[in-house]
Amino acid sequence: MYWDKEIETMSRDQLEELQLKRLKETLKQASKAPFYKSLGLEDYEVRTLDDIEKLPFTTKEDLRESYPYGMVSVDRKDLVRLHSSSGTTGTPTVVFHTIKDIDAWSELVARCLYMVGVRKGDVFQNMIGYGLFTGGLGLHYGAERVGCLTIPSGPGNTKRQLKFLKDFDVNFVHVIPSYALYLADTAESMGIEPSRDLPHLRTALIGAEPHSEETRKKIENFFSIDAYNSYGLSEMNGPGVAFECPEKNGMHIWEDAYLVEIVNPHTLSHVKPGETGELVLTTLSREGMPIIRYRTKDLTSIIDSTCACGRTHRRITRISGRSDDMLIVKGVNIFPVQVEAVLLGTPGVRRNYQIVLESKGHNDHMIVKVELDPGMFVGDIRGLEKLKKSLTRDLRDELLITPEIELCEPGSLPVSEGKAVRVIDKREE
Ligand code: AMP
Ligand code: ZN
Repeated sequence: MYWDKEIETMSRDQLEELQLKRLKETLKQASKAPFYKSLGLEDYEVRTLDDIEKLPFTTKEDLRESYPYGMVSVDRKDLVRLHSSSGTTGTPTVVFHTIKDIDAWSELVARCLYMVGVRKGDVFQNMIGYGLFTGGLGLHYGAERVGCLTIPSGPGNTKRQLKFLKDFDVNFVHVIPSYALYLADTAESMGIEPSRDLPHLRTALIGAEPHSEETRKKIENFFSIDAYNSYGLSEMNGPGVAFECPEKNGMHIWEDAYLVEIVNPHTLSHVKPGETGELVLTTLSREGMPIIRYRTKDLTSIIDSTCACGRTHRRITRISGRSDDMLIVKGVNIFPVQVEAVLLGTPGVRRNYQIVLESKGHNDHMIVKVELDPGMFVGDIRGLEKLKKSLTRDLRDELLITPEIELCEPGSLPVSEGKAVRVIDKREE
């Protein structure tokens, strides 16, 4: 039932003792990185876990400013892997791992998989992007560690995905929830009846983007399987940070590897137990690039009560939103300023624009409406076609997804009196 019973069911006292020991080690290790050296991290004294509040926060901007190697706390020869967060082609946030880090990460993922019934000999199809994104390789290593036959199918090529599921008697999959729904539609249109044609499929691990309980139920019902919520972010390795157990009531966050805080995003002080706030995480077992008090910007709350599964690591509730304006479209992280930067750099385009997000089938669809200078509408219409094409290309290059462009007459988009409403999210849920 447990991958690592001793750690997973450790008493709270023991767990906190372990956390304190690891926090002290982490501070020592992090102090070697140029970024933390410049903050004078080694001068902070931590005697109890509560002293975490004295330490400085780390943000995505800090990571960007420390690009490329400013957060690394080992000799560069000891690094074996680099990952990056999804989206943005500007200065990315990169995370480095040593062999020991990859090993610890794989252990955490294996722990999650075992928790939801994955066993040696199972066949696993990983329908999530490989490459810089952590969901591919992260899950891959964990599944191999459990002893699963792992198929690195990546996303897309839906008919082949379905063929593999059937032909290789796949037992579990890792999939972005919106893609799982699309997969269901495709299966239906191909006349595939999961309970008849995919009898071996038992489990889906769904994560990387916000989704509702209804989405989970749809996936479970269509495929006749269990679907478990998986939360992670590249800055904290990726998948394997928090994961649902069979109780399906909140995600256990592995507290031997992460120190958890929930803060009010405005005051940055701790919220009351059980209240919603921004999740702040400190790595406790990372060597190559420890991160102290990372502001994830993800909103959640802690479930403090004991879980029927016997694990003592606390749970967090489903992510309810973000404290910044980051959008997740087709699983890719996008900030409205990225769109703005492209638009403002294009001649003939005015300042006023709007991003509309819709669901097309189960897919996210992004429309960028943009006002043009009056002169643009005079004369040859081919100029407009050309502009539309070049904007589509430039936005795709910047965002890594392809939006639809709508060119609008000056003054036709609403102007708000207060803060501009740039994003209209009409997606379901
Ligand atoms: P990345 O670093 O590219 O993996 O993106 C991580 C971000 O994806 C997180 O900070 C969350 O905003 C989002 N995310 C990941 N997993 C989940 C999940 N299970 N539910 C909601 N949002 C998620
Ligand atoms: Zn549990």
